[in-house]
Amino acid sequence: MKNKRVNPHAVKLHRAYSVGELAARLGVHKNTVRQWRREGLKPIAGVRPSLFDSATIRAFLAQRNANRKQPCPPGTLYCFRCRAPRPPALGMADFIASNATVGNIRAICATCETMMHRKARRAAIPTILPSCDVQIMEAPQRLNGRSPPTLNCDIEGA
Ligand SMILES: [Zn+2]
Repeated sequence: MKNKRVNPHAVKLHRAYSVGELAARLGVHKNTVRQWRREGLKPIAGVRPSLFDSATIRAFLAQRNANRKQPCPPGTLYCFRCRAPRPPALGMADFIASNATVGNIRAICATCETMMHRKARRAAIPTILPSCDVQIMEAPQRLNGRSPPTLNCDIEGA
């Protein structure tokens, strides 16, 4: 998935944009706009089909660009609700394997209890979440797949 930065000021002030108009204006796919919506871009209430107010769009994109400058420090995942890196609640996370090398880390935000996700290489888990209990969940496998191991990356005993 490519995640290019967009310029919030490409959006004109005092205007409302539909998903299609906003996508065209910013040169992104409509699905990207839908993804932003899932990440917290709020449409104007009570309007169908959805319209987005330019001030709301600008604020959302500016915040999003700002967040991209700060990668999550070790021991945290990015929480879209807090709009900040957050440690997993109780130091616990799941890793749902997509295949032998990559998968998705899933954990609950310690601050707001929103589910956080991060795509990651299996080998990078101890780097991303040192001192967390990460439960490895294997993707459905063929009969020759190995049984699910549990990785305890509580290296430092924190
Ligand atoms: Zn949160």
